[in-house]
Amino acid sequence: MSLFDLALIKKYDQSGPRYTSYPTANNFSAFTQDDYKQQVEISNSRGGPISLYTHIPFCDTVCFYCGCNKVVTKDKTKAEPYLDAIFKEIDMQGELFDSNRNVEQMHFGGGTPTFLSNEQIIRLSEKLQSAFNFAEDGEYSIEIDPRGVDEDTIKALAKAKFNRISLGVQDFNDDVQKAVNRIQSYKQTKAVIDIARANGFESVSIDLIYGLPKQSVATFETTLKQVSELRPDRISLFNYAHLPELFKPQRRINVLELPSADEKLAIFKYSMDYLLDLGYVYIGMDHFALPEDPLAIAQSEGQLYRNFQGYSTHADCDIVGLGLSSIGQVGDSFAQNEKNLENYYKVIDAGNLALIKGQTINDDDKVRRAVIMGLICHFKLDFVKVEKEQGIIFKDYFADSFARLEQMHDDGLIELTDNSITVMDKGRLLIRNICMVFDAYLATSKTQFSKTI
Ligand code: SF4
Repeated sequence: MSLFDLALIKKYDQSGPRYTSYPTANNFSAFTQDDYKQQVEISNSRGGPISLYTHIPFCDTVCFYCGCNKVVTKDKTKAEPYLDAIFKEIDMQGELFDSNRNVEQMHFGGGTPTFLSNEQIIRLSEKLQSAFNFAEDGEYSIEIDPRGVDEDTIKALAKAKFNRISLGVQDFNDDVQKAVNRIQSYKQTKAVIDIARANGFESVSIDLIYGLPKQSVATFETTLKQVSELRPDRISLFNYAHLPELFKPQRRINVLELPSADEKLAIFKYSMDYLLDLGYVYIGMDHFALPEDPLAIAQSEGQLYRNFQGYSTHADCDIVGLGLSSIGQVGDSFAQNEKNLENYYKVIDAGNLALIKGQTINDDDKVRRAVIMGLICHFKLDFVKVEKEQGIIFKDYFADSFARLEQMHDDGLIELTDNSITVMDKGRLLIRNICMVFDAYLATSKTQFSKTI
């Protein structure tokens, strides 16, 4: 099965959100501590499990393609003041949530969480466990940089309760690695994965990027072969978006070395076909998983969800965001923390949560979110189900959207019937475009989004 239709991809070539949330984070505005506390009350009244996201912003070198919020430093003494602040934040957040609610997911993201020492990672995890009630069989994942990780680190991560790792690889080719300032050998990466598996880690996830300087189909083919030998449970294949006016490190990328638009699409097509031939399931939006992986199973059972960390099997979790720039999802709201490190320290030291903006979701947002999440997770939408759950008449509510949907039907992206939308194989790669039909904020948005393909 090929999901790739060049003519359609060119026709629908446009920029759009990645829908890790709806409304998307660019729409967030002022959001106070009281707003947040009100939402925690709603969340506690509903009960249900909790997911904890902890952001560690430090990296000791900069990757030139980076578009993340991070602090580049080799000074490891920066970690301890950060831990002091985040411990205070954990205490404040822990007090807000009912103690009988289970943490079913914990994720350390960054930045580079393994910038912290082994002892610091264990201490941070133990601090979280003292403030929240952890489930025994939860999914506890951490992003690691194999360049700074050895067997002791993996053992420390296991001690800190982690059972899943996620590694940035991007590309194993030497020239590409030099061009993006991320030198990380296949041997080093394989060694870390082998050690993690030997130490009981249940899942290994790898990130790749296509569209980087010096990449071609031929170079990426070798990377894909090496990745297939590692047999990760999950693979993310991201499109490099060159936006140097937004992301400073990208100014150090030589534009003349970037693959042409056609070469980039060829790399993408080759990679898609390669991973599908290997037996990976295309989950959607850059993500692949082995058929036996919980993500693929959740998708086949209609239980998949999407949040700020990508796809998730935990639909009913509220997310508590901790640390610089983290985003939480609590009750009927989203809330984002301060992005500037000094300001983050000041607010936390003053005894306040570091929330800077967010959004309370209104009834219209809820309807559209249900539609967008349904499409992006399951490639299918049953109008009757949406009508029952959301109390609307689908065709009346979305009357303005049907001309665009009919066009997509005629183009073969979707099958539109009286009661449903089914995304066709060649529409799967254009799922962002399909979701955009239902996004009420796009018409007035000034945000520069990445290309949908
Ligand atoms: S890509 Fe990741 S590791 Fe590289 S600089 Fe950005 S946050 Fe740090």
